[in-house]
Amino acid sequence: MEVKSAYIHIPFCVKICTYCDFNKYFIQNQPVDQYLDCLIKEMSTSKQRQLKTMFVGGGTPTALNVKQLERLLIAINETFDIETEYSFEANPDELTMEKLQLLKKYGVNRLSMGVQTFNPDLLAILGRTHGTEDIYQAVRNAREIGIESISLDLMYHLPQQTLADFQESLDLALNLDIDHISSYGLILEPKTQFYNMYRKGKLKLPNEDIGEEMYTHLIQRMKHSDLQQYELSNFGKQGHESEHNKVYWKNEGYYGFGAGASGYVDGERYTNVNPVNHYIKKIENNERPLLHSSWPTKTEQMEEEMFLGLRMNKGVNKFHFKHKFDVEIDEIFGQTLTSLVDQQLLSYYDGNYALTERGKVIGNEVFEAFLLNV
Ligand code: SF4
Repeated sequence: MEVKSAYIHIPFCVKICTYCDFNKYFIQNQPVDQYLDCLIKEMSTSKQRQLKTMFVGGGTPTALNVKQLERLLIAINETFDIETEYSFEANPDELTMEKLQLLKKYGVNRLSMGVQTFNPDLLAILGRTHGTEDIYQAVRNAREIGIESISLDLMYHLPQQTLADFQESLDLALNLDIDHISSYGLILEPKTQFYNMYRKGKLKLPNEDIGEEMYTHLIQRMKHSDLQQYELSNFGKQGHESEHNKVYWKNEGYYGFGAGASGYVDGERYTNVNPVNHYIKKIENNERPLLHSSWPTKTEQMEEEMFLGLRMNKGVNKFHFKHKFDVEIDEIFGQTLTSLVDQQLLSYYDGNYALTERGKVIGNEVFEAFLLNV
């Protein structure tokens, strides 16, 4: 399996958001320069220089200062040739002109901005550092600098958020004529501030039905925009779909560099050690910074193919499945597929199985059916 994509993890943030369970650390007093030394050393072990896509995420890569950011960008350029898509995650208030100029100079052509909502009260509840004006400024600056593709992340099903709030944020995002939107419902995760508040009765989430209504509105609203849905939570203008994320959904290989990063290379799914100090120690001792790894069996790979592939509007193609696994899809999942088509949760057309509108709303239940199958 040829690997043409890489993910780089920068696990630092200038403030920790109340809902966040990502792999990240408050940047103050962290050994950021030492971390970059190690990250650059790990990247240099890559066997592959030619990549199609690169995604630098976190944490927040724009939490690095200008000097650190340039160092990282130079190291990436010295290690890889990125042919198609070079994405950086960014927080709107950290995207100064100086940082944007650097990103542009070193070839970054796509920004994924953590906006979450345009409502100032909700931004405060989420513990975000940016305000609404920062979003407008960041988009304006990114356009001026000439970044080709701008994506905004928006959240729904937030505490105190009404359907009207979400509709407004979505409209404001679309009014900015951006190229791509990713929109996810809040999931209450253990070990977050939100979770503790919820347990103490200090946080009220809208009920599940409102979450479903918001998602249904999202899908319908986007139908009347230039951004077409191509995955459960992702919408893009033509030519602006996230090529990097499609690698995950197509169940293809990718490298993962940095503390806690995951990769899928030569049939091995692996996750690097975390926290930062453990990662640094491993790299400095010239050891592979491995936390755990597994080699999915063929059965597991076929299950993954279904529940990842069905996330995309295109769905799973039965001829592609046969080519990849040398077995007919019906032989493995025939009963499940028939039952899901009968329940109108899946559609079948021209060799493709895909989620119906109803199937999208209860996607996880559909995916589980494939896990029970084999
Ligand atoms: S900026 Fe992103 S990674 Fe950092 S704490 Fe907030 S949500 Fe988490």
